[in-house]
Amino acid sequence: MISLTARERAVADRIARLKKESGSHSPNIFTLADRIRELNIRIDCCFLSNPYATDLFLSYLKRELLSTNKLRDVLEFYPSQNQAIAHNLAKSLGVPSEKLFIGNGATEIIQAILHNFPGRRVMVNIPTFSSYYEFIKPGVRVIFNKLRKSNDYQLDPAEFLASVRRHKPDTVVIINPNNPNGGYLPLAEIRKLLSKLRHLDNVIVDESFIHFAHEGRSYALHTAMDLISSFDNLVVVKSMSKDFGVAGIRVGFGVMSEKKVAALLKTGYLWNVSGLAEYFLNLYVRKDFLSQYEKTRLRSIHETEEFFDALGRIPAIRVYPSMANFALLELIDGSSAKDFEAKLLIKHGIYVRNCSDKIGLDGEFVRLASRKKKENAIVIDAIHDVFR
Ligand SMILES: *Cc1c(COP(=O)(O)O)cnc(C)c1O
Repeated sequence: MISLTARERAVADRIARLKKESGSHSPNIFTLADRIRELNIRIDCCFLSNPYATDLFLSYLKRELLSTNKLRDVLEFYPSQNQAIAHNLAKSLGVPSEKLFIGNGATEIIQAILHNFPGRRVMVNIPTFSSYYEFIKPGVRVIFNKLRKSNDYQLDPAEFLASVRRHKPDTVVIINPNNPNGGYLPLAEIRKLLSKLRHLDNVIVDESFIHFAHEGRSYALHTAMDLISSFDNLVVVKSMSKDFGVAGIRVGFGVMSEKKVAALLKTGYLWNVSGLAEYFLNLYVRKDFLSQYEKTRLRSIHETEEFFDALGRIPAIRVYPSMANFALLELIDGSSAKDFEAKLLIKHGIYVRNCSDKIGLDGEFVRLASRKKKENAIVIDAIHDVFR
């Protein structure tokens, strides 16, 4: 079991206080380093991105914007309007541009849907990404559908449908793969669920981690966007922050009925994404960028699998099955998540997500992201060390 020295305990308490001030999202490593000077943060396993994709984006940015004069244009002028960007993106996504809504991060899309057309009841599976219940306005009820620990926190479609019949929500949210545990439903199951949920106002499918998921050994991408023409109440939410490693530029998109897109655009969101985000989305439709991205995606998936295998060999933790680039770990030797987090951070400079504040988890849990191969090796050694 992990035990902290008096000095470590004091720093741990300060970390805990800082986290409390940050609400339900963890303070980023820059805030942590700035506020707690003793810390020497080396690896951020709290943030869930594909670092190889960030490298790729940076190489394009340097070549095409920084070493030319184009950065000036991106910064000086207005970016294109929401609908114009959607128009450029539509063809390569295979959806009509009228069904595409561009967002300043997926967070803005979640907020837009929940504030404009939630109906009276919204059902979310827990554990979950907290915005889905925190952004709900007064007068709308949130229903928590608790995923069972005995089912590894995986979503069981039959139980989910039974819950819908019982609670009669107008909107349901399915995060696929789910955050914080990486639980995944194959596209065929999503299709079946959608066909039984036609009576709802919205079935939100959040695919912010979908590029990390795979079905079978082909590693091909399966996305609910392909179902949009069959289900008018489907809302696909897509963040680019994680699988493309560009959280700082704030960009995402939503695919939904043309009626919903039109209603949103009527009340705002005209120039809601920056020039840098527009530059990214222009890359996102280019064959050269996409073929190189595909290499980083496969690399990330393979290295994540190796990482999970190594984690699975550590006796003091239980690794929950995940189709994302992170895993939920349960500490099963009696250690607390708070001590584990503090020890790794203070002694090894490794930042993990303590899940104590996540509703719907019972036990001591942390979420750990796969980073670059070299970093993953350091993390594995460090975890062995803290349990020694
Ligand atoms: C991170 C995250 C988001 C928000 O992403 P942004 O595009 O950065 O706003 C949305 N949904 C889930 C499930 C996430 O994990």
